[in-house]
Amino acid sequence: MQIWFSISTGRSSVKEAGTTKCEGESAPLAGVRLETVHRSEAAVKVPDILKAKKTISFEFFPPKEANSFPKMLAVLNELKGLGPDFVSVTYGAGGSTRGHSVVLSIRAQRESGANVLSHLTIWGHSKDEVHAFVARLQKAGIENVMALRGDQPADGTPLYPGGFPNTVQLIEYLRGHFDLGIGAACYPEGHPEAKDRVADVEYAKRKVDAGAGFLVTQLFYDNADFFAFLDRARQMGIGVPVIAGLMPIQDARQTRRFAARCGAKLPTALEEGLERYGHDDMETREFGIEYTTAQARQLWDNGAAGLHFYTLNKPYSVSRILANLGLAARFGSTSHGPRREIIARERLDTQAGGT
Ligand SMILES: Cc1cc2nc3c(=O)[nH]c(=O)nc-3n(C[C@H](O)[C@H](O)[C@H](O)COP(=O)(O)OP(=O)(O)OC[C@H]3O[C@@H](n4cnc5c(N)ncnc54)[C@H](O)[C@@H]3O)c2cc1C
Repeated sequence: MQIWFSISTGRSSVKEAGTTKCEGESAPLAGVRLETVHRSEAAVKVPDILKAKKTISFEFFPPKEANSFPKMLAVLNELKGLGPDFVSVTYGAGGSTRGHSVVLSIRAQRESGANVLSHLTIWGHSKDEVHAFVARLQKAGIENVMALRGDQPADGTPLYPGGFPNTVQLIEYLRGHFDLGIGAACYPEGHPEAKDRVADVEYAKRKVDAGAGFLVTQLFYDNADFFAFLDRARQMGIGVPVIAGLMPIQDARQTRRFAARCGAKLPTALEEGLERYGHDDMETREFGIEYTTAQARQLWDNGAAGLHFYTLNKPYSVSRILANLGLAARFGSTSHGPRREIIARERLDTQAGGT
């Protein structure tokens, strides 16, 4: 099981005349004309941006309820003020929030002017469904897709019979049928299913050879793992940019839970910090801001092609980290106001969002 930040609502799809229709796919589309080919000025392929510079990017997950979209878009707008090169929108396991993912991707690009990287997984989908999903994104002017296999849903749903059998074939298909910037995931500490770290990088190479133009890492807390991965990747002929995925520490229990789930080790300095400050959320967050700032600074200066922040839909820590690094286009409004109030508000928002 890997960490990603879509909300799993369980499989909420119904079979209709041989096709799978996901809840929320049509209803929340009000106001979004998917038929119209839309070219946003913001839309740029991530590999093209990476040719010119290192990137800053933020990941969001679609809220469980469509009526939380405005709140979500408000958070996105706040972070948009920090000048990200792209924002990514995650995809629910087995397509559970597929409708929300497409709607949020399109609204993020149209209403916030964000350059969107929309995630996509193959688990539980036929090739036609995957094609239709990507065609809708592209019609709406989205230029980037994160091509993923996904994890098997808890109910044991298998890969779709006759669908894409793996990520490599998905990427080959996307490259053959669409004009997109294609990203893929990679794992500095190795994916839990990998035979070993070398085999894991070999598989990442296959994804790159198939057409992935950049890689984004799973979260990690020890930069040594990133640098070792990068060395291995370069030695094995992976030439594309590798963006470091970072998750600002929000609270001690959650950090331990996420790390355990995705197999990320917690270095001693981090363990000690969580021990020391874990009783107080505000102190934990301050510690987390310092920790991730140091991590990010070293990565930025030493080979990471960009920094991708797993925001958990919370703007406060990310805006502080970017300000510390001097990388924010401007210091976002999230920096203003008493810290305790901001943190309390973020906690309420998260509870409402259902993480
Ligand atoms: C940046 C990022 C974003 C993510 N976003 C989402 C999301 O939006 N929604 C979601 O559901 N999940 C998401 N995930 C989680 C992801 O779906 C899981 O980690 C999943 O277990 C693997 O997906 P993948 O595309 O990396 O799989 P793959 O790369 O296809 O496989 C995972 C690993 O299995 C091994 N493997 C697979 N096939 C082979 C083979 N044929 N030969 C040898 N080894 C093989 C390799 O070690 C490989 O690294 C994300 C992960 C990351 C890092």
